[in-house]
Amino acid sequence: MRQKFVIGNWKMHTTTAEAIHLATAIATGMVTDDSVTVAVCPPFPYLALVGEILKGSRVALGAQNLYPAKEGAFTGEVSPTMLLDLGCRYVILGHSERRHILGESDAFIHHKVRVALDAGLDVIFCVGETLAERQADQTETVLDRQLLQGLDGLPAATLAHLSIAYEPLWAIGSSGHQATPQQAQDAHTVIRQRFGQIFSERSAQTLAIHYGGSVNPKNADGLLSRPGVDGGLIGGDSLNAEPFLAIVQAAIRQTQPVEAV
Ligand code: PEP
Repeated sequence: MRQKFVIGNWKMHTTTAEAIHLATAIATGMVTDDSVTVAVCPPFPYLALVGEILKGSRVALGAQNLYPAKEGAFTGEVSPTMLLDLGCRYVILGHSERRHILGESDAFIHHKVRVALDAGLDVIFCVGETLAERQADQTETVLDRQLLQGLDGLPAATLAHLSIAYEPLWAIGSSGHQATPQQAQDAHTVIRQRFGQIFSERSAQTLAIHYGGSVNPKNADGLLSRPGVDGGLIGGDSLNAEPFLAIVQAAIRQTQPVEAV
């Protein structure tokens, strides 16, 4: 069975004091249940200090981005080597905010994924369509392009270190929209099928696919109970320990076998 995974993406939020407070509250509030993997991805400036706080806890450290080179003249960028040095295990790549606000292309994201996996990081690769694309019935086409151009050609041996986050843009942040559990499940099915065609049926079955887009303590059970929804990538509700930990609790509940009545 694929293990459930809850990842907090703090985006460009928190001060030093807030990062310390949040990381401490999450680390100390975690129940000792190892059925769910939990990670937080603070902004670059706080990785070292959050990493120190998380040491010895059940919460792993991740980054929100990287530059695909080991080192060099890349002003303002952060390398995979630096992330590993700071204790990161995970990196989020292809997030819609980087695709749409920072203009990252599928080819550039592909390069990042390859370099990150080569370096030994675990990649959380984000895909998802805009509202206009969904309304134009283009969801499958967009997912297909993002998967193929972002991942095709990756060595099979690295796939165990890759997971995918389906994040429809229209459901992210303060959009006011939420995907229904059925919409999430349907998109995950498309992603898994396509992944199986690109790589192999076997790798598709072991691939973890997370859902992201306004996940909160109220809708988490419904989403995480769906077959093929293996975790949640949480933005807004990862900025407070209470809702974030409540989502972790939902993931724990959804890993428990249903008792016969
Ligand atoms: C995200 O952008 O990764 C995200 C899931 O944000 P939110 O939970 O705020 O919708």
